[in-house]
Amino acid sequence: MQYISTRGRAAPVDFVTACLSGLAPDGGLFVPEVWPQIELAGVNESYVSVATRILSAFAGDAMSRDEIAGLCERAYASFDHHSVTPLVQDGPNRFRMDLHHGPTLAFKDVAMQVIAQLYDHVLKARGRRMTIVCATSGDTGGAAAAAFAGASQVDLLILHPHERVSPVQRLFMTTTGASNVHNLAVDGDFDDCQSIVKAMFADRDFVSEVGLSGVNSINWARIAAQSVYYATAQAALGPDRALRFVVPSGNMGDALAGYVAARCGLLNGFEVMCAVNENRSLAELFESGVMRRTPAKATPSPAMDISVPSNFERLLFEVAGRDGDAVRGVYDQYKQSGEAVLPQTMRGPLGCTGFASQSVTNAETEAEMIRYLEETGELICPHTAVGTKVARDLPESDAATVILATAHAAKFPETVEAVTGRKVPLPERCDDLKARGEVFEQIANDLAAVKARVRGA
Ligand SMILES: *Cc1c(COP(=O)(O)O)cnc(C)c1O
Repeated sequence: MQYISTRGRAAPVDFVTACLSGLAPDGGLFVPEVWPQIELAGVNESYVSVATRILSAFAGDAMSRDEIAGLCERAYASFDHHSVTPLVQDGPNRFRMDLHHGPTLAFKDVAMQVIAQLYDHVLKARGRRMTIVCATSGDTGGAAAAAFAGASQVDLLILHPHERVSPVQRLFMTTTGASNVHNLAVDGDFDDCQSIVKAMFADRDFVSEVGLSGVNSINWARIAAQSVYYATAQAALGPDRALRFVVPSGNMGDALAGYVAARCGLLNGFEVMCAVNENRSLAELFESGVMRRTPAKATPSPAMDISVPSNFERLLFEVAGRDGDAVRGVYDQYKQSGEAVLPQTMRGPLGCTGFASQSVTNAETEAEMIRYLEETGELICPHTAVGTKVARDLPESDAATVILATAHAAKFPETVEAVTGRKVPLPERCDDLKARGEVFEQIANDLAAVKARVRGA
C-alpha cells in the first residue's frame, strides 16, 4: 500500500513513512493510492480486532498484522470502557458515541494512543530517535503527553500559551512525570506557538538535525485510527441500518475519518454533518464553494475555533478526481489571497460526497447544554453540544443519527458550571489529577530560544 500526495508532486511512500513525516514534501497531505476494501466489523468483534484489521489494511506490507495487533492492544488498554467508544441512546433513533473514555477525556486519545505505540515500535526497529514538537491550545497537547509519556525513542515538546489554557487542560500536559515529555509555556498566544512550530518545520536543516516530527491533525495515522469507531458504530447498530453522523468539527480530521471508513466499505452509505461553531468558514465553503480565511474567534468550544480546516484538502483531492495539480492551484490561490473559489468541476462532486456543514451560535450552544441536561439528566461538553444542537435541527429521517461526543464535560468545568450551574467532577480514573506535581518551563516567545531548548531535549 503506497501513499501519494494531494498536491501530486511527491514520490509515493509506504504507510510508516507517511505517518512519520506528517506533511508530504510538496506541501500536500498523504492519502492511500487506492482505497482498500475492508470487511464490515462484526457485531461481536472487539474494538482491538476491528482496529487491527483496518490499520493492517492501511499498512499493507509495511507492518505485520501481529505487530499492529500488539500496538492496538497496548493503546486501548488505557481506556476505561470495554467497548472503547460506546454508544448511548439519547433519543428515538438517536445515539451519542462517547469518544472520551481515554486518559485525557477527549477523542484525541483514540488516535494519539495508537500513534505513540506506532512511533516507538517503528523507531525501535530502526534504531532511531525522533523529537516531536506540537503546539496546542488544549486537547492535543494533553493527549500527546499521556500517549508518549515513557516512550523510549521519542522526546515530546509541547508548546502551550502561558496562562491561556484551562487549568484541567494544562494539568493533563504537565503532570505525566515522564522525563521525555517537556512542557514549554510560551509568553504569547496560541498563534505564536503555532508560528514557532511552523518555522521550525520550515527549516529543513533543523528538521534533520533533531529528527523533528509532528502529530497534528493532518497525520495520516490519526485519520486511519479514527475511522475505526465509525465501523464499530455500524456494527453495533446493525450492518443494514442507514446511519447519519453529526461530527463537531475543527480541522475536520474526525469527519474525514468517516468518509475514509465509507470509501473502504465499512459503512452502509455515508452522510456526515460537520457541526461548527461561530467560526463558520467550513459551512460557507459547502454553501458557496468559496474557501475563505477568516480570523478565528474565541467561542465556548475552543478546540473548534478554526477557520478553513486542514483536512479539507483530502476531500478536495477526491472531488478534483485526484488531480494534484488542480488541488495545488486552489491552495496556491488561497495562500496568496486568503480566498479561493472552487471551480464548478469540483463544486458539483463536492455536493455528492455525503458531507454538509451547519454552524451553531454561542448562545445556541449554551441553550443546548441546558436543554440536553433537562432532557437526559446528563452534562455534555460545549463541543458535543454544538453537535447535539445540529442533530436536533436535522430533518426527520429513517436513518439513525449518531452524534460524536468529542470530550467529557469535566474537561471544560468552567464553561459547564457557568452555563448549567452544575459542578462536574472528574471521572474516578483521574481524580488525583489536581494532586499530581506539575512540571513546565516558561519560555520567551522567540524562535531561537525554543530551537535551543528543542536541541537540548
Ligand atoms: C480536536 C477537537 C475537535 C475537532 O476535531 P477535528 O478532528 O479537528 O475536526 C472537537 N472537539 C474536541 C473536544 C476536540 O478536542
